[in-house]
Order: sequence, then structure tokens, then C-alpha cells
Amino acid sequence: MSDETSVKAPETGSGSGAPSGQSGESRPSGGYQGNRPAGGPRPAGGGPGGRGKFFRRKKVCKFCTEKIDAIPYRDVRLLQGFVAERGKIVPRRLTGVCTTHQRRLTRAIKQARNIALLPFAARH
Ligand SMILES: [Zn+2]
Repeated sequence: MSDETSVKAPETGSGSGAPSGQSGESRPSGGYQGNRPAGGPRPAGGGPGGRGKFFRRKKVCKFCTEKIDAIPYRDVRLLQGFVAERGKIVPRRLTGVCTTHQRRLTRAIKQARNIALLPFAARH
């Protein structure tokens, strides 16, 4: 009466007709290659690092390297390098300017704006 033990047989899909092509029978000699040939599904992951092609310059503050302490707000050309086309100040993470100089830079840019050397925003 206690036959329930044999009822719960774990079926792990022991191939019932599935054409498994994994047995290396159809391979020529020396076919003990665990790796599949290229072309199959990629393994998850993708590899170390994904991005970082180019666009990775030396991230050193330009002003530090050139030892510019006070940023000349009259130097429009200089400032323009840190202002986007629309007149926005480029964030520091893009320019690589250190915090100290970014601050001074912002100030300089604002000053330059005030004396109309730089645009406040895009003109329409
Ligand atoms: Zn700096």
C-alpha cells in the first residue's frame, strides 16, 4: 500500500526522441573539443569593459597643467572651449577640469557673459 515512493520519479528529460547532436560521433578523429565552433550563441558577459574606445583623453585639468591660476574672463577663446554651443557651461566631467578651476571657470564665464563676450544662451 505504500507504493508512493516510486511514483515520484524525477524526470530529468532523459531524451525521448530528441535528436541530440552532442555526441561526437559524426566528427572526424580527434574530436574531443569541448568548445563549440564560432557561430553559436554568445556566452553571457560580453567581455571586460564595454566602452572606452576613444574619447578618453588625459583627464588632467588644463589650467592646472598650464598653471593658470586666475582664469582670464576676457579670454573668450579660452572660455569658449568650456562653453557648449548653446552657451552652456560644459560640465566638469567632460572637460576634466578640476573642481577649483571649474569654479573659477564658471565665474569667468559668467563675467564674460555679463560683459557680453559670451552668449547667455542660444539665440533664436
Ligand atoms: Zn585645475
